[in-house]
Amino acid sequence: MEREEYLNYHRKYNREHKNKINKQSREWVRNNAKKVTENTIKWRKENPEKVKIQNHNNYIRNKEKYYARGIAQKNIKLGEKLCQRCNKRKAVERHHTDYNKPLEVELLCKKCHDEERVKL
Ligand SMILES: [Zn+2]
Repeated sequence: MEREEYLNYHRKYNREHKNKINKQSREWVRNNAKKVTENTIKWRKENPEKVKIQNHNNYIRNKEKYYARGIAQKNIKLGEKLCQRCNKRKAVERHHTDYNKPLEVELLCKKCHDEERVKL
C-alpha cells in the first residue's frame, strides 16, 4: 500500500469510527488519570512556548468561561464552607454548570470537582 493510500485508509476509518474511538480514549484517560496528569505536567514544563499559545487559544475559544470564573471569584467567597457534594472536605473550587450564569456555582472540593470534569 502506498503511503498516501495508507493514510487515507486510516483517515476514513477514524472518521467512520469517531464515536467508538473517542469513547475508548475517554475511558483510557479515566483509567490512567495519574499517568495522564504526570505526563501533562512534564510536557508543560518542557514546552513553555506551546503552553503560552495553548493558553491564549483557550482564552479566545472560551472567553465566556474565563469571564464567568472572574465574576464568581470576585463575588463568591469560599470561606470555610464544606463541599456541597461530599460534605466532608473543605470547598476550594467553584463549579459552573452554565457559564451564562456566572453567579450560579456549586462549591466543591478538589476531588469532587475532578470527578465532575471526568464526566464531561
Ligand atoms: Zn467533595
